[in-house]
Amino acid sequence: MSICPKGRVSKSRGRMRRANSWKIDTPTLVTCPKCGELMIPHRVCRSCGSYKKQTVLDAK
Ligand SMILES: [Zn+2]
Repeated sequence: MSICPKGRVSKSRGRMRRANSWKIDTPTLVTCPKCGELMIPHRVCRSCGSYKKQTVLDAK
């Protein structure tokens, strides 16, 4: 199977798609179980430096 466009995408439609791609939607944040600060999930907490209930980085 190869790529086969069903139809021509109009200038405005193509541009509209491209215009939306760079937009950053509201970042998903979870509260850290250790310090209760908002943090990005699956990342080391920025305020206490912990990940999976373990201190990975030295807390400043
Ligand atoms: Zn934390």
